[in-house]
Amino acid sequence: MAYTYDSTNIFARILRGEIPNDTVLETAHTLAFRDIRPQAPLHVLVIPKGPYVTFDHFAAAASEAEIVDFMRTCATVCDMIGAAPGQGGGGYRAISNAGEAGVQEVPHYHMHILGGRMLGRMLSRD
Ligand code: 5GP
Repeated sequence: MAYTYDSTNIFARILRGEIPNDTVLETAHTLAFRDIRPQAPLHVLVIPKGPYVTFDHFAAAASEAEIVDFMRTCATVCDMIGAAPGQGGGGYRAISNAGEAGVQEVPHYHMHILGGRMLGRMLSRD
């Protein structure tokens, strides 16, 4: 797997406690916090604590414990913010951008969980 993790990225600094964050949930392997520039009324970022760059990197290289913890944290966050349809929430979109074409800004794997309004079509054309 040809990934080199840059430990100076902003999420690594959040994990080290160098930058504050608005935490929604923290577990053994995962941190969920509010996006600083929310693009919807509900916008939470879920990140693994380990040094993974993208979704494919995480899915291929993380331990089963990390992956299960991450997925379960995403599910709990959807419920906590009132977005999970199965719990009466209004729905959400889970997005993970990767690399140049995916327009990934921060090179630490993260899942965006967005909701609280109609989110429109999945992709814009620009
Ligand atoms: P990406 O484009 O990499 O998928 O998304 C990165 C996200 O991180 C953006 O939505 C951006 O607003 C968010 N972000 C960047 N810096 C910070 C920060 O210092 N704190 C928080 N909470 N979010 C950040």
